[in-house]
Amino acid sequence: MKRVERIIYFRHSKANQRSDHDLYFLRNDQKTANAYRAGALDAYGNAPEQGVSSGTGVPCGHCLNIVPEGEGFLVVAHRPFSILQPYAETGPIFICQSDCSAPSATEIPQVLEASPEYLIKAYTSNQRIKYGTGAIVPKENFTSKLSALLARSDLAFVDIRSAKNNCWLTRVTHQT
Ligand SMILES: [Zn+2]
Repeated sequence: MKRVERIIYFRHSKANQRSDHDLYFLRNDQKTANAYRAGALDAYGNAPEQGVSSGTGVPCGHCLNIVPEGEGFLVVAHRPFSILQPYAETGPIFICQSDCSAPSATEIPQVLEASPEYLIKAYTSNQRIKYGTGAIVPKENFTSKLSALLARSDLAFVDIRSAKNNCWLTRVTHQT
């Protein structure tokens, strides 16, 4: 079975009308999700593992919803970076086992509403962690914190991860 070599993201805009200050939440596209459902190999060359959701703690990397209780999911090793370098962290992500579709383009994704806090880290344009930007942020302060980071010219994107388990959830940019 072919390995998924390159992860492609769909942009997810906070607003219908684009502005320089929009937040774009990136996620795995339908093609990638379907490839894993068909058994494509993950970042470590392993076939996807399967599980059944308890209804909490299983964020889907495609629809950006929590996989509902009783529904099947896949778990794969995911490396959301285009080049191999020391900061290119690889970790688990989940994908709904059944077909799932994109969230609304104007709402904060459900995976960013389900927890009281999140781990954020900002990266430079060459995909290196910018030291000093890593923080556990309450979801109430979330968008203002993201906007402040993305306003900096030395930062290219912010990755959002689970505060407790470090699972990659989404990437946020200002780029259109
Ligand atoms: Zn899903």
